[in-house]
Parts: sequence; structure tokens; C-alpha cells
Amino acid sequence: MRGEFDWIRELGEVFGAGRLPDGTIGIGDDAAVLPLCRDSEAAVNTLSSVVMSIDSQVSGVHFRPEWIGYDDLGRRLVHIGFSDIAAMGALPQAAMVSVEVGPEIGEADRQVFTEGLKSAVSELAVRLIGGNVARRISGFSAHITAIGRQEQDRILLRSGALPGDQLYVTGEVGAAAAGVRILSAREASVADRYPALCEAYRRPRAHWREGLVLAESGWVTAAIDISDGLAADLGHLCRQSGVGAVIEAEAVPIPGELQAWCQACGIDPVRHAMAGGEEYVLLFAAPLDQLAQDAVERRLAEFGGQLWRIGSLTKRPGLEVSRGGRREPLVVTGFDHLR
Ligand SMILES: [Mg+2]
Repeated sequence: MRGEFDWIRELGEVFGAGRLPDGTIGIGDDAAVLPLCRDSEAAVNTLSSVVMSIDSQVSGVHFRPEWIGYDDLGRRLVHIGFSDIAAMGALPQAAMVSVEVGPEIGEADRQVFTEGLKSAVSELAVRLIGGNVARRISGFSAHITAIGRQEQDRILLRSGALPGDQLYVTGEVGAAAAGVRILSAREASVADRYPALCEAYRRPRAHWREGLVLAESGWVTAAIDISDGLAADLGHLCRQSGVGAVIEAEAVPIPGELQAWCQACGIDPVRHAMAGGEEYVLLFAAPLDQLAQDAVERRLAEFGGQLWRIGSLTKRPGLEVSRGGRREPLVVTGFDHLR
């Protein structure tokens, strides 16, 4: 059966994918890019462009009311929306939110959701400038349009990585996906034992400061945020850059609490972290250049940001994991909404 990504590719073919002639970037990256001025082709590269993305949280799909309070849900919506803006290396500017509510969602829940939106827009220093409210037969869904800006020639794309580039992530991986599994099992005692994993799902953080540092460094060749899973999103970056990748299993940053949960469940932590998803950290490629890396690490450290090198890109297409000197194919099992 054709999945979500086949349809997105098809939509890209119908409506124009990749870099359109006037500097516009259409379907197929983390966000769309619209240059602010189209008068002069020559001037486009020095102009600020608007970077826009749309995302959603749908009850029964992205969350269940038992997993997350409406305050965290409002906050989460804004952070996941701006995670795509971060992946383009753009500065968050403004948001619009559309909400659809079933009759069982009371006034108190709506108020709490508003509080969550409020805390996130203040964390990201953006303004909520519009939206829409509609009723639905039951349940709850919310959509965000996240808007940022960046100079055209600094914007980070999924394409552009080269063989020999090193691969990095800006945060630990695997925790949020474990949180979803723990919360969906509905065993309060287990959730109490792994608070950081549940929090990783409930309270993601858009890595927009990291994205800005990467964009301004001039060091990075391609970037994406990890929402579908490390392996799946690495696959998107590699496909769009025309390269392959080798992940070094021992280098993947896996938080201590996740190691403990994996051990208790008899799950391989690296395999879990590859399939993961919902991390909203950035995955990026950059050439091997210790001076550039040190400079970026110093800038990140100013606000507590970090990076981990987890592998490298190859000329040969395909994804592999190297573990204890042995290489094995990396099986992509990320989330697909249509499968
Ligand atoms: Mg994305």
C-alpha cells in the first residue's frame, strides 16, 4: 500500500517540488520558503525569506487525553510546529492556530489549552496572530502554522549533504517514543518509574536556537528535525542529498533512563532509538572540520545546547549501522500516517 511519503512525493510532483525558479522552496522539505521580494533575481540571495510550516495534533492519533494534559498539549503543538522552522535554520516569528473541538471538551479544558499555547509562544518569543475555531462531532484536533524568517542563502535544506560529511544530532534520541509506549500501556506504576521518558513526549522543545547557530555557522550542508524517527528522517535527508549513511551504534546518545527501560523490556536501545520518533531534535550533516565544530559547540554552550557526532555519509546509497566493527543494513521503521 502506498504510504504518506509516496503521497507527499506525488503532491510535490503535481504542485512543484524543490527549489522553484524565484527562490521559493515548495513541497518536500521541513518547511516552505517564500522570498520577500521577487523583483530582482540577483537580489534574492541577500533578502530575508519567510519560512512556513504547518502541523497538527489529532486526538487518537498524536495523543490521547489520558497521556497528556491540555496545557502540555497546547505547548507541544507550538514546539512541534516550530521544530520544522528550526530545521530550516530560521528565526521563529509568528504562529496561527486552528482548533476543532468536540462537545465533550469543556470550557476548563479550552482554558488550560490556551495557557499551554501562551507559555510556548513566550518561550519561543513569537506572537500568535490568528487562527480558527470549529466544532467537530467528537475529540479534539489542533493545527499550527509556524512562521519564521532567515536570509535566503543561510536557509538549511534536506538536500546539499555530501559523501564524507559527518552526521550530528542536537539532542538525545529515543526517549519520547518510549514515553508514548509507557503512557499507552496505562500502567501508572511504570509511568512513575520513568518520568523523564513521559516528559520527553509531553514536553518537547523546538531546537530553534540550535538551528539558528547552525544556519549562521555556514558549516552545515543539510538538516532535518527528527519527528518520524532517526532512521526514517535520515532516510529523507539522504534521499534528497543523493547519499548513503553509516550510523555508529555506540555514538548514538541514549539517555540513562531509556537504557534502563530498554533493559527492563528486553529491547535493544539502539534499535529502539533508530525507530523512535517525536524527538524534535535536529539531525544535520557537515564536513569534517574540527575548528568549525568547536566554534559551533561554543555557541551552543552559551544556552546549554549540545551536539553529538553519530556517523558519516557515504557515496553508496543506503543506510547502515556499524556496531563493534560490523556493518548491518539499517531497517527504516518510522511512523507513516497512511500505513
Ligand atoms: Mg520536519
